[in-house]
Amino acid sequence: METRTKVTFFGTEAAIPEVGGETASFLINDQVMVDTGWNIVDNIRRQGIDPGNIRYLLFTHMHHDHYISLPSLLYYFLIANKDLADLKILGPEEDLQPILHHTLEFLFLNRKFYPARSYPTIIPLKPGDSYDDELFHLKTASSLHPVQALCYKYTDRGTGKSVTFTGDTAYHEPITELARGSSLLIHEATYGAAPANPLKNGGLHSSAMDAAEIAKAAEVEQLALIHGLRRNNEASVQAAAAIYSGPVMWPEKDQTVYL
Ligand SMILES: [Zn+2]
Ligand SMILES: [Zn+2]
Repeated sequence: METRTKVTFFGTEAAIPEVGGETASFLINDQVMVDTGWNIVDNIRRQGIDPGNIRYLLFTHMHHDHYISLPSLLYYFLIANKDLADLKILGPEEDLQPILHHTLEFLFLNRKFYPARSYPTIIPLKPGDSYDDELFHLKTASSLHPVQALCYKYTDRGTGKSVTFTGDTAYHEPITELARGSSLLIHEATYGAAPANPLKNGGLHSSAMDAAEIAKAAEVEQLALIHGLRRNNEASVQAAAAIYSGPVMWPEKDQTVYL
């Protein structure tokens, strides 16, 4: 049995990534995918993993940069003769079902082309909900973002390690409770080392300092910053490290972290 929890970062950028880059998305224990980035199938295959073996896809929220390559994963399942019913898709209830319904029924998996195919299992969640699998426990909390968005705490039943990830959010104090004592906190830091500007993007993103305040208050073991411009990474890590005394990183593309 694996004695460590594995987190592989496929990308850490926001909106449109730089050439060769990827938006915030990562894979836990080779089976649980968090958001899709722009290139989910290629990202998973680059790790030597069959995308058809992904069992869970968790959405933090349904802004396009977080689900834009979903159709490519669904198509892979179909063409590789994998059973879509083996794929469970979890996300915020307000947007998950309408968007997946349109994607599956009309826009992509047109019934005319795939009339007899199974569908993924769709599990809508609201902030505060939990979900249990034999391998892990999930707990959710709210984010502060223009659409319904979830933060998740993933607890690995095998190792006892926990990963809390925020998706997109402004500084939001309730995340502290969710993240408390986590082995790793993955927090967005769109504004980098600049103070959060309430006029920019609706003000509903975080700075590296916001992320560090949550990490400090929640007494997590380490902090990873994501969802920002790559050229700001170093300044962001420094700004966070001035507030939070544990290890801080801005993961590289395809970097794996073991807990
Ligand atoms: Zn985003
Ligand atoms: Zn967003």
